[in-house]
Amino acid sequence: MRDHYRYLIVGAGMAGDAAAHGIRERDPDGTIGVIGREPTAPVTRPALSKKLWTDPEFTEDQIWLPTADTGADLILGTSVTAIDRDAGTVTTDTGAVIGYDRLLLATSGHPTPLGLPESGRVLYYRTYRDYERLRELSGQGRHVVVVGGGYIGTELAAALVQNDTRVTLVFPDEVLTASTFPAALAERVERRFTEAGVELLPGARVSGGESTADGVRVELEDGRVIEADAAVIGTGITVETGLAEAAGLTLGDSGIRVDDQLRSSDERIWVAGDAAEYPDRILGRRRVEHVDHAQESGTVAGRNLAGAGEPYTHTPYYYSDLFELGYEAVGALDSSLATVEDWTTPFEEGVVYYLAEDGSGVAGVLLWNVWDATDAARRVIAEQTDVSADALRGLIG
Ligand SMILES: Cc1cc2nc3c(=O)[nH]c(=O)nc-3n(C[C@H](O)[C@H](O)[C@H](O)COP(=O)(O)OP(=O)(O)OC[C@H]3O[C@@H](n4cnc5c(N)ncnc54)[C@H](O)[C@@H]3O)c2cc1C
Repeated sequence: MRDHYRYLIVGAGMAGDAAAHGIRERDPDGTIGVIGREPTAPVTRPALSKKLWTDPEFTEDQIWLPTADTGADLILGTSVTAIDRDAGTVTTDTGAVIGYDRLLLATSGHPTPLGLPESGRVLYYRTYRDYERLRELSGQGRHVVVVGGGYIGTELAAALVQNDTRVTLVFPDEVLTASTFPAALAERVERRFTEAGVELLPGARVSGGESTADGVRVELEDGRVIEADAAVIGTGITVETGLAEAAGLTLGDSGIRVDDQLRSSDERIWVAGDAAEYPDRILGRRRVEHVDHAQESGTVAGRNLAGAGEPYTHTPYYYSDLFELGYEAVGALDSSLATVEDWTTPFEEGVVYYLAEDGSGVAGVLLWNVWDATDAARRVIAEQTDVSADALRGLIG
């Protein structure tokens, strides 16, 4: 570890990895330091809830990102605790003070705690270490409570039930995925989980609970108690804004505010990935917690640290896989919006258009088992003004 880097990246995750590669596209020699709280190298996070559980051909050595190939120093198991913008330094929890010329914050967020405290049997699922531990706690007919009906909760429930684990899935919607998908599709998805043997507890929220010597007690708001071998929680993150705020950087409504080049209110500091609240060219100012954005914004931020001065013009897509069902999407998937459904085969393959509240266009596009169509989805969101069913049906797919 040096005491000064030309480029210093805080956060050894997916955006941090992409940024190190982005820097190298423009500057073959400048020193790069990557400081990460996790003890392990940057990892392809989607594999932690999908392929590592569901694809027998996929092995653990495929999850590691090649950050070290850039020549960056990886300073792992280390948290940055403060930024001194005047001095151009960061301080770490080991007491080190490290200087930078250009700084990137790629710190994402930490899981938002519920009333159920984290322990060796209660995992707030995000990291490779969480994956290792969940492997130990699952299988052989053990019982795991999965909390959260979003993409991490649903993916983990599907992964575990396919790996000899009894699964209880606790989620607030009345029908699984009903706040995301139109009603009939959500019912189809829910049925797939029931058929697979997942026990569903809809309309339920965790209020508390505790770990015991050999299991967990999960308490629900309605008074029910579930006893199991372990609990795994995928209910979302709180963005790491504390460092930025303490350093006096401007925050947005949902993250660290950046301009169209991903630069913060300090001209030597950029932000990428989950933590950045950026002006999306098509969708407007927002924060996005998805891989495509982490990689693309990380790459552009890295190039900009190295002087490119280019805008971030990519509108990200995202994806999920549940059993044999899979989708990609762009924009808002919010079932409270009016939708136009265009099924090639009902609930097997098709496109759902989510209409903007004011009826002026399309706010989001769901591509259900429809592939290679994210550019078309972006085009529809950017350009389509006639949102009648006749006009939308057949546009994609
Ligand atoms: C299990 C799982 C499955 C997912 N599946 C999908 C998927 O299928 N599709 C999809 O589009 N997205 C998926 N995502 C989301 C996607 O992985 C994230 O959006 C992406 O990783 C964001 O990249 P990032 O670099 O901003 O954050 P991360 O990859 O989370 O990296 C941030 C890193 O910064 C570190 N850090 C934070 N604060 C500090 C500090 N002060 N000092 C040092 N280090 C710090 C954190 O410990 C972390 O390692 C998934 C996420 C998870 C957890």
